[in-house]
Amino acid sequence: MEYTPEQLSRINELRNMTEPQWDSICRGCGVCCLFKVVFGKSRVYYTNICCENLDTKTKKCNIFEHRFERTGHKCAKVDLDVVLSDRLLPRTCGYVEYIFGPAPRAININWSHVMSANQLDSEDFATVLRHRIPGSTRWNGR
Ligand code: SF4
Ligand code: SF4
Repeated sequence: MEYTPEQLSRINELRNMTEPQWDSICRGCGVCCLFKVVFGKSRVYYTNICCENLDTKTKKCNIFEHRFERTGHKCAKVDLDVVLSDRLLPRTCGYVEYIFGPAPRAININWSHVMSANQLDSEDFATVLRHRIPGSTRWNGR
């Protein structure tokens, strides 16, 4: 993807941030902790299933400080590569907006319909696919 000079400058700002500065950009929306199904290179559906470690009321991770050891790398650190991927974060993510400006549309999630992965019998592709959120393929659009 080609970036404008302004976007490149914002990318550089993110690259040079201290950890507290970087963390302050996250809005704690919890959307990145929803399971996704990806078709081909970039068609992404979000689902009504979240990681079992997400508190769906507060949108906080219950194991935040230890999430990488405890999840066996199932949880990916949100770094600049992740932010610049068009598959991994919604357009409304604070980091994505920092580079590309305000998202053109809001994402509405009914969190009372979101179930934790540990409520599922199986995390296989067909099961996750059944819980996809219609229209969510537009959530990542840059
Ligand atoms: S372990 Fe990772 S994916 Fe799961 S709730 Fe925590 S931050 Fe989100
Ligand atoms: S989608 Fe972005 S803003 Fe929302 S919790 Fe994840 S990293 Fe933070």
